[in-house]
Amino acid sequence: MRPCPNCQSERVYKSDRPVGTTTIGGELLPKLSPGPLSSAKMRAVVCADCGLLRYFVDAAALSKLETSKHWTLV
Ligand SMILES: [Zn+2]
Repeated sequence: MRPCPNCQSERVYKSDRPVGTTTIGGELLPKLSPGPLSSAKMRAVVCADCGLLRYFVDAAALSKLETSKHWTLV
């Protein structure tokens, strides 16, 4: 996660809790949720110098990518 890929700062922070991926328009990460009543999770990482925000999808959602028929390798 460090250094920041934009400004090479070492002052990069991650949140201590995951954020859900449900949006007003639907699921940001469709078909990768752990169950029908929850959304796939991701964790925010922010650079304290330039403000670059990155999101990293959690391992449970990542594990579903390769076998999901809703996601294709680009
Ligand atoms: Zn930065």
